[in-house]
Amino acid sequence: MSRFDDSPRLMIVSDLDFTMVDHLDPDNHSLLRFNALWEAYYRQDSLLVYSTGRSPTIYGQLRNERPLLTPDITIMSVGTEIMYGESMVRDDGWENYLDMKWNRDVVMEETAKFPELLPQSETEQRPHKISFFVDKFKASEVIRTLLELLGKRGLDVKVIYSHGTALDILPKGAGKGEALVYLLKKFEDDSKLPLNNLVCGDSGNDVELFNIPEVYGVMVGNAQEELLRWHAENASNNPNIIHATERCAAGVIQAIGKFHLGPAVSPRDITDFQTCMVEIFSPGFEVVKFYLFYERWRRAEVEKPEECMRHFKSILLPQGTFIHPSGMERSGYKCMDAIQGLYGDKEGTNYHVWIDQIVTAQIDWNSWFVKFYKWEASGKERRCCFNTVLLSSKGRGVDELTWMHMNQIWLDDSEADDQNPWIL
Ligand SMILES: [Mg+2]
Repeated sequence: MSRFDDSPRLMIVSDLDFTMVDHLDPDNHSLLRFNALWEAYYRQDSLLVYSTGRSPTIYGQLRNERPLLTPDITIMSVGTEIMYGESMVRDDGWENYLDMKWNRDVVMEETAKFPELLPQSETEQRPHKISFFVDKFKASEVIRTLLELLGKRGLDVKVIYSHGTALDILPKGAGKGEALVYLLKKFEDDSKLPLNNLVCGDSGNDVELFNIPEVYGVMVGNAQEELLRWHAENASNNPNIIHATERCAAGVIQAIGKFHLGPAVSPRDITDFQTCMVEIFSPGFEVVKFYLFYERWRRAEVEKPEECMRHFKSILLPQGTFIHPSGMERSGYKCMDAIQGLYGDKEGTNYHVWIDQIVTAQIDWNSWFVKFYKWEASGKERRCCFNTVLLSSKGRGVDELTWMHMNQIWLDDSEADDQNPWIL
C-alpha cells in the first residue's frame, strides 16, 4: 500500500469534487498549481489519496476530463471501495469487513417504500452503497424513518446526506472517515504511519475526515454550509482545522503553508526562476520547472524570450540523445532549434503541460535517473508520454541540472502523429 521503506513525510487525503477539482474553473488553474507543487516536492516521499463519493465509473470520467494526478490510494463510493496504486488493486479485506450487518436487498426493499427517494444512476449503485436524490426539505424525516425501518430489519447502516440533495446508504462501518481510520491502522501495523496527515473537503460527506484525531484539516474556501455548520458546532476550537480563504486546490496549498507541512509555493507561482530561491533541491522540481518553461514558451508567456532561450540552451546538453516517442532520435542541439520554432504556437489557447508520478533515483554524487509521465492538453485533446531522463549537475549537487539523455514512449491511448511538431 505504500511505495516507501520509511514513513511517508505527508499524506494528503482529499475529496475531489469542489475540493481538488473546481468545476467553476474550466482552466483548472488551482489544480495545475497543486500538481506542480506535489510533483516538485512531495511525490518522492509522500502519499496522495483521493477520497470521493464517486463510483469507479464516474471517477474515471473525471480523470479523463481534468488534469488530476495519479493518486497512491483511491477511496471511492463514499469510503466503501479502497484501491491501491496506478493499477487500482482492490482491498478485498475492507469489503469483506463491510459485509457485516449489511444486506443490500433489504435496503432496496425498504427504500422502495419512499417515493421521495429518486435513485441515482446505475453506475452509482455499488455493492456497499445505495444512492438517491432527495429534496432537502424532506431529507430529515426520510432519514429518521428509514433508519428506524432498517434497524428493525437487523441492519446497521449509515446515511450520509450531501450538497442538500444526495443521500447515500452505507454499512455502518463504511464512510470516508472509517476508510481512513482503516488505512491509518494498516500503516501503523506496518510501522509506516505518515509523519503528518492533511484531510481536505468541502461537503457533508467529508465531515468524518475531520473527526479523526491528530490529522490536520482544511475546509476549502468554497465549503458547503452543512460542513461549516458541523465545524461550528463540533470543532470550532480545534486549531488543526482551518477554513481556507482560497477555493478548492488553492485552499489545499494554503493549508500546507499554514500548518508548515512542507514547501507551499507552487512552481507555477514563480515567474522568475533566476531570482527565486528554491525551497528544497530536488530533481523533480527541475523537471516541473523545465516543462513550465516549455508551456510558457509555447504560450508566449515569457517576459524575456531571449533570456528564456539562453536558459533552455544552458540546460540541454547539445550532444545529448533525445528519443521521440515515434522512435526518431535527435541531438540536444537539434531539439533546441525545434523549441525555438515553437515560440508562441499555442498563444491564446488553453494549452497546458503537467507532470505526473515523478520518480527519481540518484546514480552518483551528481547524476539522477528520473522517470515521469508528461501530459499535454489543448482543449479536449490530450497526449501523454512516459519519459526517462538522465540529469546531471554541473557543480557540486544543488545547482541547475543538465538534461543529458531522454527517452519518450507514447502511453497506450496517445497516438504518435507525425504532423505534430517535435516535442520534448
Ligand atoms: Mg466534494
